[in-house]
This record gives sequence, structure tokens and C-alpha cells, in this order.
Amino acid sequence: MKWKSHISIAKAIALEMGLPEELERGLCNGSVEPDRRPDAAFREQGRGLRIVRAPHHDPPAGTIMAYLWRARKAYLIGNDYWAVKNLGRALHYVQDKSVSPGRGFRRHDAREEYVADLTPPREAVVAGIEVAECSPRFVRRCIAEVRPEKRPDEIMFQATLYSAAITASVLGPPDPEDVLLDRYRRAVKAHRLRPALGGAAAAASVTAAFAGLHPGVAAAGGLAAAVIIADPAYRRVCREAEWFGLDAHRP
Ligand SMILES: [Zn+2]
Repeated sequence: MKWKSHISIAKAIALEMGLPEELERGLCNGSVEPDRRPDAAFREQGRGLRIVRAPHHDPPAGTIMAYLWRARKAYLIGNDYWAVKNLGRALHYVQDKSVSPGRGFRRHDAREEYVADLTPPREAVVAGIEVAECSPRFVRRCIAEVRPEKRPDEIMFQATLYSAAITASVLGPPDPEDVLLDRYRRAVKAHRLRPALGGAAAAASVTAAFAGLHPGVAAAGGLAAAVIIADPAYRRVCREAEWFGLDAHRP
């Protein structure tokens, strides 16, 4: 996507969200920065790895998420400029991802020229802000949903919609809702009891194996222990809480 498009989307969002001028500038600067100072990515070459420019039209979700986490954390400690700068960098990739690379560079370039003539539709900005949830799971889902589009107006609409939704999520309320806080506290408490439970399950499976029971019983015991120790539901609620600056290791 052309710089003009990245900047016009940033400005439309800043206007709708009432960001002060300095932060609007930060968001605009961040939005074009990946073209100026590219992110590195690794590509396999022969038996080694080569450092290349991170792809913009099929960017790794991890790169975008890393910028969004940095933005959210800066925002929570009141470093707003750094927050919007990192947010802008992430949005650049979301916007480029909206453009179908197509066949041949010439067609792709023509498509971006057409997009550059378009203004970000205000209804896309408003809709994005409206649907936004303040949650890392929400922004991850947004990134996954962005599809490469071919029609210039669809490219602009999608890029604007998701950019606005992600911005509203990152710059959303700094404090968690009571429901999440409750769920989080309960999960942390339960997790503290988990190692004991996991150990008991593992011990049971060993006993079962020695007792010469059916091996399936022993395997089931082992599996239960593994699930309890990895505890994906606990990790998920911790990630959600981290979006609000809560850290299970430093309560
Ligand atoms: Zn780019």
C-alpha cells in the first residue's frame, strides 16, 4: 500500500478517536515506518539462515502481535507516543495484508495506485471502533480475518475497518472489567493448587502401571497429569489479564 493510504487511514482514525495532534503524528509516522526501517525475517538458504526483509503482504502474525503488545504496554504506563508509534507499525502490516499481491508486480502496483485515490470511509472507522473488544484475543482474531482483496474500494474499507478496531482495542480501557478480574483471580488461585493435583495423577498412573493394570489406564493418568501441568485455559486467562497489566508472577 502507498504511504498516502497508510497516512490517510491513520488520520481518519485519529480524528474519530479524538487523538491529540502529537499522537496523530506518531500514529502516521509509525504507519509508514516499516517501509523506511524494515523488520527482519529469517529465510532458509541451503543449510543456513539468511536475514531478509519481513514480507508486508503476507506478514507473520507474530510480528504484528509483538508490536501490538509493545503498544499496549507503553499505553498502560502512560507512554502514549511510543504506544501509537508501535501501533502504527502493526497497522502498516494489517493494511498491506488487505492488498492482494496478484500476479505480476505491475498489476499490484496499479491496484495500489487506485487505492491511493480513495479516502478511508468514515463508516468503516466508526464500525471498527464500535465492534472493538479490549482484548489480545480480539486483535489476534482481527489479524487472522484480514484477507487479500482485489477491488480498491474493498481494500480500503477492510484496511480501515480492522485498523480502527485494533486501535480501539489497544487504546481501550486500562482497567479490566470485574468479570475478567474475577476469572483471573480464581484461575491463579486454582493454578497454585495444580502441581499437587498433577503430581497425584502422575503417581496414580505409575502405581497403576506397577499393579499390572491395563496400560491404557496408566496412559490416561499420564495424560491427565500433562494436561494439568500445561493448563491452556490458565495461560489464556493470564494473557487476557496481561493486556491490563496484571502479572500472575508478580501479584
Ligand atoms: Zn509496506
